[in-house]
Amino acid sequence: MAPDDSPAAEQRRFSRRSFLKGAAAGGAGAWAATTLPRWTFESDPHRPQQLYEYYLDNFWFESAGLYQERVNAPLKGRQRADVAIIGGGFAGMSTAFNLIRRFPEKRIVLLEGACCGYGASGRNGGFADVGMPGLRNIYEAHGPEAARSYYDATLLGVEQIRNLAREHGVDCDLEHNGSLNLATEESQLPALEAQKSRYDAMGLETELLDTADLRSRLRSERFFGALRDPHHAILNPAKLARGMKRAIEELGVEVFERSKVMRIEPGSPVHITTEFGELAAAKAVIALNGYAPQLGLFTNRLIPLCNYVVASEPLSASQLESIGWAGREGLADLRVQFMYLRLTADNRIVFGGETSPYFYDSSPSSGNYAPAIERLKRSLLVTFPQLEGLRFSHSWGGTMGFTRDFMPSVGALAGGDNTFYAAGFNGEGVVMTQLAGKIVAELVSGERPPITRLPIVGHQMPYVGHEPLRYAAVKLYEHALRATSGNPVR
Ligand SMILES: Cc1cc2nc3c(=O)[nH]c(=O)nc-3n(C[C@H](O)[C@H](O)[C@H](O)COP(=O)(O)OP(=O)(O)OC[C@H]3O[C@@H](n4cnc5c(N)ncnc54)[C@H](O)[C@@H]3O)c2cc1C
Repeated sequence: MAPDDSPAAEQRRFSRRSFLKGAAAGGAGAWAATTLPRWTFESDPHRPQQLYEYYLDNFWFESAGLYQERVNAPLKGRQRADVAIIGGGFAGMSTAFNLIRRFPEKRIVLLEGACCGYGASGRNGGFADVGMPGLRNIYEAHGPEAARSYYDATLLGVEQIRNLAREHGVDCDLEHNGSLNLATEESQLPALEAQKSRYDAMGLETELLDTADLRSRLRSERFFGALRDPHHAILNPAKLARGMKRAIEELGVEVFERSKVMRIEPGSPVHITTEFGELAAAKAVIALNGYAPQLGLFTNRLIPLCNYVVASEPLSASQLESIGWAGREGLADLRVQFMYLRLTADNRIVFGGETSPYFYDSSPSSGNYAPAIERLKRSLLVTFPQLEGLRFSHSWGGTMGFTRDFMPSVGALAGGDNTFYAAGFNGEGVVMTQLAGKIVAELVSGERPPITRLPIVGHQMPYVGHEPLRYAAVKLYEHALRATSGNPVR
């Protein structure tokens, strides 16, 4: 079943009755927004009214040379394409990569509002985890064999990243160091054991580390045990994004940057209006993830949550020695609002997570939401007090697309056959978006190989409520998470 927040569904809903219902809900929302005290709605005072986060103090952008790079010209005038891809993140670029290799003769156009990698794809922690997200749901609903097939499918995402490096020279500082999933309390150790049993049942090798084992490899008293997963990797996400942009252009995709899409009109062809031009496309792919609600898509299905990251100055040899961590694994803890940290190629610590605020009416974040950034800086020193005095060089944030059941969704809009989408990567999209793009390319070309039968294909994203109820529900959930012993596990 396709989600019902598509352009076609939006059009169908524009009946008198729905207009009246919408007006009533809008009136209630407007009343609540103006009448309830200002503090009722958490808002980010730095956020400009535009589409994007403008605060660019992003270590990955800098290390990928993005500030020196030429950004492509926007789409201008009236043009036609065989396939239009909207959104130049990993999902859009993976779709383009898979389509152009199959159909080099077609005109495939990618429209990106800022520059490729500007969204979550160039801002994330760079954890290239396999098998996520939604793996546990699939395990619980369908058993270990189905979960293993899903896991194996995501390996195609990792393989694509390797292929980009091998065949297209995309160097993204990929390090196959595995990961440590950490318990921040002794009471969480059974959850690690349960996780290990699930992996055992799927036939996947992992290793449980008790407190002593763990502390011999990572000098932090904040953690009491870990599950080591050797399959995961870390990378520089902006280098991957900019490398993918170069690779798809070399293969023949036309990439228009600074081409913010203002309107998508369903039909045959699909009409796309950007700030400076128009595109009529036989087929279209919407790869906007957390930004989709800004175009009126998936408004009541996707929850854009914001997440923040800080980067330290490079650690000296003695600072590195003091924290152990010789394995350079990606680290994340078990809590629902978890922290993640990893080393960069030049030995900075990139540290993120712990809070994921939702801003009223699905707004993106400015990227410099001070409460989250300051909390991260304090939290890093709680994790490694021996690094007292460590200086931070960068801090930034980004917008992710969450679903109520934590499952991504890929498919055709409103059951049609010329507009497709990929969304809902739930903060774990580095590898999944590579796979999602492969699947969307199959759907666009009308092929139905086994990956198009994965449970995320056509998955109905559950309803998340209209505003202001959505805002209230997300805030209540956040409070409940904090209240439940402070540390409920994932
Ligand atoms: C701080 C942070 C940390 C994260 N850490 C990890 C991690 O370590 N590992 C992991 O697996 N996942 C992580 N994620 C999630 C991961 O980054 C995302 O799931 C993934 O990048 C989503 O890719 P995407 O292509 O779907 O969306 P995006 O990368 O968000 O791409 C959407 C693109 O659409 C463009 N756009 C928006 N509106 C318009 C418009 N109107 N017209 C044209 N273009 C438009 C945007 O500029 C953007 O480039 C993290 C996310 C954040 C924010």
